[in-house]
Amino acid sequence: MSTSYTVLNPATGQPVTEVAEATLEETDLLIERAADAFPAWRDVAPGERARLLRRFAAVVDEHVDELADLEVRNAGHTLGNARWEAGNVRDVLNYYSAAPERLFGRQIPVAGGVDVTFHEPLGVVGVIVPWNFPMPIAGWGFAPALAAGNTVVLKPAELTPLTAIRIGELALEAGLPEGVLTVVPGKGSVVGERFVTHPAVRKVCFTGSTAVGKRIMAGCAEQVKRVTLELGGKSANIVFADADLDKAAAAAPYAVFDNAGQDCCARSRILVQRSAHDEFLERMERAVRAMRVIDPADPDSEMGPLISAKQKETVTGYLEDVEVAFTGDAPDGDGFWVPPTVVLASDTAQPVWREEVFGPVVAVMPFDTEEEALALANDTEYGLSGSIYTRDLGRALRVSRGVQAGNLSVNSHSSVRYWTPFGGFKQSGLGRELGPDAPNAFTEEKNVFIAQD
Ligand code: NAP
Ligand code: MG
Repeated sequence: MSTSYTVLNPATGQPVTEVAEATLEETDLLIERAADAFPAWRDVAPGERARLLRRFAAVVDEHVDELADLEVRNAGHTLGNARWEAGNVRDVLNYYSAAPERLFGRQIPVAGGVDVTFHEPLGVVGVIVPWNFPMPIAGWGFAPALAAGNTVVLKPAELTPLTAIRIGELALEAGLPEGVLTVVPGKGSVVGERFVTHPAVRKVCFTGSTAVGKRIMAGCAEQVKRVTLELGGKSANIVFADADLDKAAAAAPYAVFDNAGQDCCARSRILVQRSAHDEFLERMERAVRAMRVIDPADPDSEMGPLISAKQKETVTGYLEDVEVAFTGDAPDGDGFWVPPTVVLASDTAQPVWREEVFGPVVAVMPFDTEEEALALANDTEYGLSGSIYTRDLGRALRVSRGVQAGNLSVNSHSSVRYWTPFGGFKQSGLGRELGPDAPNAFTEEKNVFIAQD
């Protein structure tokens, strides 16, 4: 028997709707249906698969406002962000709709015949999505997986299943056959674990915490199951004294407080060269105090609430025994609100400096030399993203080559474009998503030699 649970609006703490969660038996049934749908989907002609994905993108486009409203209510995302996120699903589908006709193999010179390679789909791919970016992270998994000829089972986070459920319906409306994209709401310990243990699921694409990611990798080892991991981060924003300080200080709050800091790419450590430290902080304070932390449904909102009461408790726990330099605003009353908070870190052993807070908290520390900045930036088990602000081109190059992280930006805090690769060094992950090569990560390369006599 299925049970259901209540999804809350994080801005108010009030119920939004009830969602049924899949049992183990239901999960097995849906995985088996996805496995049954695979051979026909694999054999759809490339141009036809492309056309269906473009149609899916068009249907998502017609529902951007509806999906955005749903995300504002379910995840507390600002309306502006939520519209971007729904548009990202459309754009990622359009981008990978060009992949089916371009899954090229190679012809390799050999004696006595012909040698060719094929990129063959894996079968059923399991995508496990966290609550922080429910729509984009789902799309980054399912769009290239479907384009490469796989069928997909998708588990949204229990806290944020509503947009995924709707996207699953839109896929059918667009003409994708039954079983090609199946959304399976439910618990990580039931549905998510079953993706790992069910032999018909040939790859798991996981985004979430490093602790659960390690467990999934260990579980996948049992069947030598393919796995992609996008895990946590503790990224550094390195500001040199020669930088455009106005630009750096105006951008820094958005590089960490966007999505209320619940972003694996958040630049949650700021390293500022000592001679510019005080001036930078003064300017950043003006920017933080001006941030509009208001009802996320208001089109002017720049930051909303945290996802849950539990997340608020975790985040505020990091603020005990630290020196707060200044904070921005946040509404009073119900909902899981925490104001943007800037902490002066005194020691690299402090939890607020070392651990992924996943909330609107940033720790600032001064440095003297380029060498020291690099050593501090790399003194972490994570390696997802980071920024470098400087006007010195040589330094920008040296430091971007020196930071051990997968996604860096110079004089900018952007991390993610769907047409460039995204993923982590060290314990921030394994494998890459997005970019031109993503469909290959959902295939096996097969080599065939054909004798000519
Ligand atoms: P999480 O527990 O790792 O959850 C991520 C996804 O994995 C959810 O869909 C979750 O399902 C599922 N899951 C949980 N346990 C599982 C298991 N044993 N097997 C298979 N799937 C499982 O992350 P969280 O609890 O939501 O967040 C905790 C912390 O993780 C955050 O504070 C943050 O530090 C980090 N995080 C990082 C990212 C990122 O983008 N890198 C995203 C989210 C969170 P249920 O939610 O239904 O249990
Ligand atoms: Mg969890």
